[in-house]
Amino acid sequence: MKLRSFAALAALAIGTAAGGAPVLAPPAAQLGPDVQPYVHIPAGRVAIQHLRIIDGTGAAPVEDATLLIDGPSIGAVLPPGSPVPAGYRTLDGTGETALPGLVGMHNHLYYLQRPNLDAAGHFEQPIIIPQMTFSAPRLYLANGVTTMRTTGSVEPYTDLSLKREIDAGHLVGPHLDVTSPYLEGPGAFFIQNHQITSPDDARKEVAFWAEQGVNDFKAYMHLTRAELGVAIKEAHRHGLKLTGHLCSVTYPEAVALGIDNLEHGFFVNTQLDPGKQPDKCSDGTGTPTLIKMTPGSPEANALIKLLVDHHVALTSTLPVFAQSVPLHEPLQARQMDVLTPEAKEGYLFSRNLTASRAGTPRANDFAQAYKNDLGLERQFVASGGLLMAGPDPTGNGGVIPGFGDQRELELLVEAGFTPVEAVKIATLNGATYLGLAGHIGSIAPGKNADLFIDKGNPAANINDVENVIVVFKDGVGYDSAKLIQSVKGRFGEY
Ligand SMILES: [Zn+2]
Repeated sequence: MKLRSFAALAALAIGTAAGGAPVLAPPAAQLGPDVQPYVHIPAGRVAIQHLRIIDGTGAAPVEDATLLIDGPSIGAVLPPGSPVPAGYRTLDGTGETALPGLVGMHNHLYYLQRPNLDAAGHFEQPIIIPQMTFSAPRLYLANGVTTMRTTGSVEPYTDLSLKREIDAGHLVGPHLDVTSPYLEGPGAFFIQNHQITSPDDARKEVAFWAEQGVNDFKAYMHLTRAELGVAIKEAHRHGLKLTGHLCSVTYPEAVALGIDNLEHGFFVNTQLDPGKQPDKCSDGTGTPTLIKMTPGSPEANALIKLLVDHHVALTSTLPVFAQSVPLHEPLQARQMDVLTPEAKEGYLFSRNLTASRAGTPRANDFAQAYKNDLGLERQFVASGGLLMAGPDPTGNGGVIPGFGDQRELELLVEAGFTPVEAVKIATLNGATYLGLAGHIGSIAPGKNADLFIDKGNPAANINDVENVIVVFKDGVGYDSAKLIQSVKGRFGEY
């Protein structure tokens, strides 16, 4: 009995190599009392007729299809006019579109507190990062995210426990790829972080968290090349990948060290920053490099070739950077509604401050950098690079879990990708990186029934991605509106 269940578990243990729980745990046998109230469509045999399907592969949408969901899996996508096989609960999807569940690749589970922040943007140290273990998973799932990487953890034990509770059916939320604490040297941005002091220290930290069961690693801004190199080696030794939001190490240096993924598109590459010292984070943290690196320039072409040749994936996190562009789109009322009064105030302070900088050299520089990044992300994809998506809900409070994932899709389309290309970046590409493309990331028979249904047509108008009705995870349909209602006024507190 014991042997058999172990074998079953091993067969399902996909998406992880070390001792941790797999990213895609087997569906919970039962959903507990804290999950049940949010179930809109229980698992079973469900046929949704007259549905438009954006399948996540970048293909044109299929119109008027019938989607069959068989328990935890997708049964079939039937062409228009097909009869529904016997035994299915039939729903009408007229005017609605199904998309694969988003695979969020830069999706934190925390909020960023700046103590005593005022309207002039002043705050006191230390910056503290409170966990949003209650609100964030609900906001992600409600907005279509069915799998996410935490991409840098502040309370890794909390995140690991959250994953265990979600997988067990006790709490509501997406499939979690739990990332290590930030691997960071002296100069850490927030105080709740171990500071790595040597290559051996880096190796020990990676080995420790691999054994605790994290699925992924993230390096941060103040590591030396030697420390980063050892961390990458140790992660790989455990069969795990490592990504980085870098500064002290440039993109070409990180590629040479064997990194798997780079965060924030081209925003944080410091290779051309003036005064850049080896192993030291530059003052410009990458913006000067990005201003110089216009798309199609020899420097850009060389870097993109290097990344593509070495199969280094890139994560686009446009929403967090759009916050620094003066007069960016304000948060919608539905987003403001989930913030605490203090988080609302902090967001408005920051937004006004950014607006007041419109037309200054600093703002113009940043606008140029932002524009270059959009072009470089397009060039990277056109060159065969694997681009993934995530909102990075940090910055000045204007990026919120889930809503931010939808905003990333809209900004990718503003950058020049077609809506179906943007959807692929936010779904199948992330699944591919995680080694889970056989199970999630597109709407195809046999894959997990991890998908969401929007009112409208995001293939024609990407903003329709915001109109989520129901989100299926492992074939269970969750009520989007009810989940959002349950965290009203909470984001920023818990
Ligand atoms: Zn981040």
